[in-house]
Amino acid sequence: MRPTDACHAHGAPEDSRFARQHVLEEIGPAGQARLASATVAIVGCGALGSMQADLLARAGIGRLILIDRDIVQTTDLHRQCLYDERDAREAWPKPLAAARRLKAIDPAVATDPVTADLIAANAEAILRPADLVMDGTDNFPTRYLLNDVAVRTARPWVYGGVVGTLGTVMAVLPGRGPCLRCIAPDLPDATSLPTCRSHGVLNAAVAWVAALQVSFALRILLDASEHEPRLHDLDVWRGLARAVRVVRDPACPCCGHGRFEFLDAPPDMTATVLCGRNAVQLTPAAPGPVDLAALRERLAAHGDAAIRGALLEFASGDDRMVILSDGRVLVLGTTDVALARTVLARYLEA
Ligand SMILES: [Zn+2]
Repeated sequence: MRPTDACHAHGAPEDSRFARQHVLEEIGPAGQARLASATVAIVGCGALGSMQADLLARAGIGRLILIDRDIVQTTDLHRQCLYDERDAREAWPKPLAAARRLKAIDPAVATDPVTADLIAANAEAILRPADLVMDGTDNFPTRYLLNDVAVRTARPWVYGGVVGTLGTVMAVLPGRGPCLRCIAPDLPDATSLPTCRSHGVLNAAVAWVAALQVSFALRILLDASEHEPRLHDLDVWRGLARAVRVVRDPACPCCGHGRFEFLDAPPDMTATVLCGRNAVQLTPAAPGPVDLAALRERLAAHGDAAIRGALLEFASGDDRMVILSDGRVLVLGTTDVALARTVLARYLEA
């Protein structure tokens, strides 16, 4: 719980921090108290997440969980409103820089900075304290994971995306309206989508999308029964907005059939091509210590397996791998990701 607004408690509400929200019909003193007791998680503290955190903290949300794995860079500063030159120069992790800035805005806001990727292995634990989750991500795999957690735990979340001058917003209230997979059942092919890196992004578009997301978040926290499910498309450059009514799909794999494929899927491996080394590195979604001695026993049945320091080296015919004690695997002699995954599966997923 957030401490009682001191000025208000002393009978001078017109001077208090939240005076203009107390007189706002949509919030009022009772609504303000409700916001003060709320916890909101912000997944991704980049452009959208920065703006959401700024608005939510100033609106008097009691606690903010701030999740991002990145550091602040100079190229972020044109749109990520919580950060400044010093954060970029000193390479601050975004959740820590955000928490410091939010404390300066209002010391009464509690912040929980989480410097990590949201992944299947940690998503439920990180989001559990949140009454509502804000989408500040820039990718669909994380949104589908977020949607799985939200539907499984009956927790509202507010989808938001922005690229170039265009934005999309939809609030998801599990049980009351459609979820993300009612609208888009399958994960879009990432290679077919424009990104901020390839197409740029207008900071004013970020501000409009984040403002709409925050407005929906406050409405839901104050009275979820008021929610009307709509998909909002924004063209910020031209000043156009379109809202399409959306409905639940009874055949939705997630909220219809209760399949949480992004949450329950076995941890996938992320592939990185190490061109200079003619190798592909496969990194588990949840890196952790691996028992190399036990793995050596298992692999010895298929070829030569030997432990050298913190590495396990394996060779069988043309297939060569190095396994690190944190679970990373280097498949040597190729830069073909599909081939590398095949080699890994041949020996380690049987
Ligand atoms: Zn659904």
